[in-house]
Amino acid sequence: MAEIRIENLRKQFGSFVAVQDSSFTVEDGEFLALLGPSGCGKTTTLRMIAGLELPTSGKIHLGGEDVTFNRASARDIAFVFQLFALYPHMNARKNIGFPLLSQGVPKAEIRRRVEETAKLLQIGHILDRPISGLAGGDRQRVALGRAIVRRPKCFLMDEPLGTLDAEFREVMVHELRELHNRIHATTVYVTHDQHEAMAMADKIAVMNHGVIEQFGTPQEIYSRPATMYVADFIGSPPMNFMRFTSSLQKGARSVSMGGVEVAVPEVHQDLAEGELALGVRPEHIRFSDASPVRGAVYGSEYLGTNQIVAVETVSGLVRARVPANRNFAIGEPVGLEFNPEKLALFDCKSGLAVPSSLYSEARHG
Ligand code: ATP
Repeated sequence: MAEIRIENLRKQFGSFVAVQDSSFTVEDGEFLALLGPSGCGKTTTLRMIAGLELPTSGKIHLGGEDVTFNRASARDIAFVFQLFALYPHMNARKNIGFPLLSQGVPKAEIRRRVEETAKLLQIGHILDRPISGLAGGDRQRVALGRAIVRRPKCFLMDEPLGTLDAEFREVMVHELRELHNRIHATTVYVTHDQHEAMAMADKIAVMNHGVIEQFGTPQEIYSRPATMYVADFIGSPPMNFMRFTSSLQKGARSVSMGGVEVAVPEVHQDLAEGELALGVRPEHIRFSDASPVRGAVYGSEYLGTNQIVAVETVSGLVRARVPANRNFAIGEPVGLEFNPEKLALFDCKSGLAVPSSLYSEARHG
């Protein structure tokens, strides 16, 4: 297995920039999710790593070797597509063994490796069944088997679960991560689904319009979003933005929002007056009659263990995740209290997070 190192990777189609100067490292054995909406450049990035697309500029290193201009077949990479092209006239065993057969591996060795792979994927019992008779999930497992039987340096997966229904998807998310824990293959996984990325990946690169907005662990990305885009893309419901106009002084530990002082993590930068947003995750809000941050209940969504209550405030609509044991009437006045250590501040003009102790703590682990 091997490390993948990307340096200033760029891809233009004519004047359109699909991937803008991306740099990141996927460490040996790590699982990276490239996450973002349709058209943000995930597949193009993956195709460049695979050698299926030539970069406009930048470098790709695989296991310490510069492979930027190597052909796909010379990269020792397994690429798993959304639509698995299995051979319908062959059984599962032959499908899995096919890459080895085309490499000229002796028959006995093929048999041994196919069985070892089937054991890893727990599909030993279907090896001699025809592909056409297999259910969707088993076909996915056979396709995965065909990818891992070669023991490539790394795996590139492009929305491999895209065609599965929701229930199956959840099972496969779990299985893929389990498989990764067993074989520790360096993996780059493209998805637009934040739940998949959060559940499977060691690191996530959140992409937007060809740019990596943040690269970090799922925890870092969720708790310390670098931009408003990331804060909004991750989490369901996403982070709330309570907008207000103010300046900021380095060292401040509170902000004045609509005349109300709200405690925040220590601000580490001066900022001239402008539009700011207080970023609050729904689970970091409590209802408190004594709080001066006021609002009126707009609606609620019952989720069993808790509920999401939407509250109209002067700074916008705020969604709070609160215990389900209380009913709220539409229009009911409520006070909102925030967990001050978890709050983020954003400069609305740039969309960037304002440096604060929330972020510096992250750097020290
Ligand atoms: P999706 O999930 O829809 O595939 P994505 O994030 O993977 O989205 P890409 O497929 O990488 O996005 O495409 C990024 C942008 O580059 C898109 O706007 C797409 O239209 C454009 N693009 C991709 N391939 C080409 C091409 N061969 N020629 C011109 N434009 C392209």
